[in-house]
Amino acid sequence: MLEGKVALVTGASRGIGREIAVTLAQKGASVVINYNGSEERAKEVKDEIESFGGTAKLYQCNVADFAAVETMIKEVVKEMGSLDILVNNAGITKDNLIMKMKEEDFDAVMDINLKGAFNTIKHASRQMLKQKSGKIVNISSVSGVLGNAGQANYSASKAGVIGLTKAMARELASRQINVNAVAPGFIDTDMTAALSEDAKAASVTQIPFGRTGKAKEIANVVAFLASEDASYITGQVISVDGGMAI
Ligand code: NAP
Repeated sequence: MLEGKVALVTGASRGIGREIAVTLAQKGASVVINYNGSEERAKEVKDEIESFGGTAKLYQCNVADFAAVETMIKEVVKEMGSLDILVNNAGITKDNLIMKMKEEDFDAVMDINLKGAFNTIKHASRQMLKQKSGKIVNISSVSGVLGNAGQANYSASKAGVIGLTKAMARELASRQINVNAVAPGFIDTDMTAALSEDAKAASVTQIPFGRTGKAKEIANVVAFLASEDASYITGQVISVDGGMAI
C-alpha cells in the first residue's frame, strides 16, 4: 500500500508516533523516526521495523528549532531520494489552570506543538511541491476541537494545528498535496499515564465508548490518510476519540 514511499514521523520514539512509524513501515514505507531526547527508545522502534524487513532511519531533531528542521528535511531528501509522507506528531503538555500557567509553559507548548508543525511543513512542502505529490497528516487533539480546562496552552496549540491544516490544504491543493489532521481523544501513552487515576476515571466518563483508545487506533487512520485510498480527502479533521467530540 505504501511501497516506495518515504515517510517522516516526528516524535516517533514513543507512544502514538512510535505506532504510526511501525504501521507505515508495515505497509511498505521507508520511515524516518524523528525524536528529541529518547534515543534508546527511538533505536527500539528502528529495531522493531527492521525485524520484519522494513526500512527505518533515525533522526534526532527538536522540531521547535527552525534551522535544525530545515537541515533534517534536506538530509532526509538527500539520503532517501524523496519525501512523500510527513506526519507531525511530536507534542508535549504543560497543563495548569490559567491563573497558575507560566509564560514559558505557554511558549514551550506552542513552540513544539504548533510552530514545530509549521517548521516541518515549511521545509517539506518545498520538496512535495517539486514532486507534485505528498501527504501531510497533523496530529491535533480533542482538546483543540472542544477546548479543555487546564490546557489553555495545549488546546490553543492543537486548535492552531487545525487552522494550519486547513490553510495548508488550500495552499498546496493545486499540486495534489493532501493535508489533513487527526484529532485523538484519550489515548494510552506516557502523556496520559502522567494523569492521576481520578483524572483518568473522570475522562473516561466523557467517552461514549466507555474506554480509552490505543495508539494503533490512531496509527491506522494516519496510515489511511497517508495512502492513495485518501487521495480526494484534504483539509479535514478526523476525530478518533470513541465519540468524545460528538
Ligand atoms: P508521548 O507519549 O508523550 O510522546 C511524545 C513524543 O513527542 C515523543 O516521541 C517525544 O520524543 C516527541 N517530542 C516531544 N517534544 C519534541 C520535540 N521538541 N522535537 C521532536 N520530538 C519531540 O505523547 P503521545 O501521547 O504519543 O502524543 C503524540 C501526539 O498525539 C502529540 O502531538 C499529542 O499532543 C497528541 N495527542 C495525544 C493524546 C493522548 O491521549 N495521548 C490525545 C490527543 C492528542 P522524545 O521522547 O524523543 O523527546
